[in-house]
Amino acid sequence: MNKQVFEQYDIIVIGAGPAGLMTAIESFQPNKKILILEKKFKPALKLRIAGKGRCNITNDANFKEFISHFGKNGRFLKYAFSEFFNTDLLEYFNKLGISFKLERGNRYFPKSDDANEIAEVLIKKINSLKIKIKTDSDVKEIIKNENDDFVLTIKNSEGILTLIAKNVVIATGGKSYPGTGSDGSGYKLATQLGHKITPIIPALVPIETQGNIAQKLQGLTLKNVNVEVRCENKKIDEEFGEMIFTDSGVSGPIILSLSKTIVKLLIKGNTVNIIIDLKPALDHNTLDKRLIREIKNNNKKIFKSLLKSLLPSSLIPVFIEILGISQNKKLSEINSEDRKKLRLLLKDFSFEVKDYKLFNKAIVTSGGISIKEINPQTMESRIVKNLFFAGEVIDIDADTGGYNIQAAFSTGWVAGQYLKK
Ligand SMILES: Cc1cc2nc3c(=O)[nH]c(=O)nc-3n(C[C@H](O)[C@H](O)[C@H](O)COP(=O)(O)OP(=O)(O)OC[C@H]3O[C@@H](n4cnc5c(N)ncnc54)[C@H](O)[C@@H]3O)c2cc1C
Repeated sequence: MNKQVFEQYDIIVIGAGPAGLMTAIESFQPNKKILILEKKFKPALKLRIAGKGRCNITNDANFKEFISHFGKNGRFLKYAFSEFFNTDLLEYFNKLGISFKLERGNRYFPKSDDANEIAEVLIKKINSLKIKIKTDSDVKEIIKNENDDFVLTIKNSEGILTLIAKNVVIATGGKSYPGTGSDGSGYKLATQLGHKITPIIPALVPIETQGNIAQKLQGLTLKNVNVEVRCENKKIDEEFGEMIFTDSGVSGPIILSLSKTIVKLLIKGNTVNIIIDLKPALDHNTLDKRLIREIKNNNKKIFKSLLKSLLPSSLIPVFIEILGISQNKKLSEINSEDRKKLRLLLKDFSFEVKDYKLFNKAIVTSGGISIKEINPQTMESRIVKNLFFAGEVIDIDADTGGYNIQAAFSTGWVAGQYLKK
């Protein structure tokens, strides 16, 4: 049965993810009535699964490099990061009782390897400040009333609730992994209030490839490879590092980083290829010399043994199939044409992109509330007074490495500081 309840708040934060929780904590003043509304039954579901459940909370990169991982919209975060950066975030959680360790790629994780720990200390802090979190509260509509206050319509399992707030913070996340609650509804709320949304696309998303080669290699991780995105024979982007083959294509850190470029090209109707250089440390000439040497020194052996010295074992049958050279061919019989084919495949292991995975497999959402419409020093809307944004709902997204969670916390921190005044 529907029931109408009117309660008034100074600040309502929509979304109990890292951005929303940080905003609420930092905006706290004993005389202020603050409420967090969360659609799901438990707060911070995405934070709890971040970093495969270990939460890569931030990165040790310096300021300039950190910002560069956000692409051109990184400039929006300059103020937030200059006020509350990686060391500030780590110290913040140290004070809440969490210690961290630094891992490969300058990534910070809690020593406990447990993302829940991060979520729980924030909730403990919220409880200690007596800030209320209403879970099972899906904000459906926001309008302004004649007093210039916000009127929020909330749907919960008991019916509809109406709340009034002087200030509203939209910290609803993006549209990726909608099962965690961030299903893009924040964009609708912002649009209702007159904001523009930069078109959203899945980012940090696995890529599907044509043919069945990737499937045959499913589970194989390649380290220290260079992957190039090519469109009409032109190099568009490249990354060096680690990737993995999946049941339908490719994924892993460097593919996820390249995925935004790939998705944008596909949306424009381009044919896109990804080219894996399995020997990026060797140019063609040096690699050819190495092949000549290997063949000469082992000329009694067979072709398969040469491949063993060059490739992980699961790649060998695939290479034999593509090259069309018998695995038993004596190395003494390998001619320059065979050697050239092998060299080209090692440097140009190519896959045509078929498609990209949708939002339910995307780590982040690219696009969102236009940064032109938000004041980066307060996170307040430039269009609607007393309306704020924090976190992934804003048109900011970065590579993997802890950058996205830092941005959620930093933007939440900035909004909170301003609201506290
Ligand atoms: C699998 C996975 C792993 C990740 N790992 C990492 C990592 O290790 N490091 C990293 O930096 N980033 C990682 N990310 C990205 C990172 O988790 C997000 O960028 C970050 O959580 C964004 O924080 P947020 O507070 O803006 O939004 P979210 O964490 O998405 O929180 C938004 C909250 O708002 C609630 N909500 C949405 N709409 C409404 C509504 N209408 N009414 C009420 N509530 C609403 C949602 O239920 C949700 O709880 C990962 C993402 C995924 C999916």
